[in-house]
Amino acid sequence: MKLKVVLKQGREWVMEKSHPWVFADSIDLKLTSPDLKVGDIVTITTTQGVTLGTGFYNPKSAIALRVLGAGSFEVHEELIRKRLLSSIERRAKWWTEENQILRMVAFEGDGLPGLVVDRYGDWWTFQILCAGMERFRDTILSVLKEVGAKGVIERSDEKIREKEDLPLRKELCWGEKPEQCIAKENELLYSINLWEGHKTGFYIDQRINRQKLGDLQSKGRVLNCFCYTGGFSMSVINGGATEVVSVDSSFPALEKLEENYKLNGIDPEKHQQIQGDVFEVLKSLPTNELFDGIILDPPKFAGKKQHLKNALKAYKELNALGLKLLKPGGWLATFTCSGRVSRVDFQRSVEEAALATDSPCVIEDWLSQAPDHTVLSNFPESLYLKGLLLRKI
Ligand code: SAH
Repeated sequence: MKLKVVLKQGREWVMEKSHPWVFADSIDLKLTSPDLKVGDIVTITTTQGVTLGTGFYNPKSAIALRVLGAGSFEVHEELIRKRLLSSIERRAKWWTEENQILRMVAFEGDGLPGLVVDRYGDWWTFQILCAGMERFRDTILSVLKEVGAKGVIERSDEKIREKEDLPLRKELCWGEKPEQCIAKENELLYSINLWEGHKTGFYIDQRINRQKLGDLQSKGRVLNCFCYTGGFSMSVINGGATEVVSVDSSFPALEKLEENYKLNGIDPEKHQQIQGDVFEVLKSLPTNELFDGIILDPPKFAGKKQHLKNALKAYKELNALGLKLLKPGGWLATFTCSGRVSRVDFQRSVEEAALATDSPCVIEDWLSQAPDHTVLSNFPESLYLKGLLLRKI
């Protein structure tokens, strides 16, 4: 008999909207199968017994159900294999000689809840974040063999796994442990630390924006805040910037940035790097040496709903500090990567910053994540990276 999770009467609409998450407060525990375990595969029904869908269950998480699709169906290895292969094949159009860093699987966006697979040249990395998907670890590895991955590293080392009763795991699955993984994005070479780097080593989601800012062909001085390993810095130098100041609090990130500069033969004269807290650095920079372009790409400020108000305040403060250092006629590329912050709220925070600092701006472009980070129209949280390209007038 199939395991069953029943939605409370009046909550069936959560499935009708085909959103891939169902929260714990929508579940009728009295009618749900007893003794369900973390990661069980379940059929989702109404109190009347009408089948709504199939998904992974976790009684310990606020996101109790991760939906795999409508109706009742077997979730077997072949289904996961097919979804994985079609997700990888769909990206073939973005894999070119000049661009060999891509996200191959993006969680629910590709019908594979709790799974991310990234590719860096010959190297592949994957991360499993929910117990339901953990059941298919061997299938994931066999698909990676099938597609000819020369090296594979598992980076299932996110704390969130503890909520799924899963151990943290970091493992070289096969291949020589790369002393230095080097891969190309937008014609620039990057040295990527697959073992210790943020996410699976790199912020792949900013690919298109790095290209766009390079294409601005902005001359003059650029300030890159939250620079990580220098992606935006190198892109604007390639586009013609005469000097870039890069700021990040992470020493290993700045070390990688230097390595990346060398790899691409970038003149060290064009670059200055500052290790420190961006808020403090922005306050300390002289206001008589303004910048022609500024990039603000901070980490997530709002991980939870209750952090939203403070996050919006922080975006306002950060953008106000940035705008004070921007020349009239200069550009500001500003981002939020918080799924919980809507584009409208983010835009309002930036507008408030412009008002507060008497820096009238026009919006020249709306920015978002690269399309390999799949967005579903029925899943607003999947559009987590939002940005604005502003011109100070
Ligand atoms: N723009 C980057 C990605 C930025 S990710 C790229 O294109 O690759 C966010 C970065 O902010 C990380 O490198 C992190 O080390 C840094 N960071 C987080 N909080 C910070 C702070 N308060 N001050 C400076 N850097 C910070």
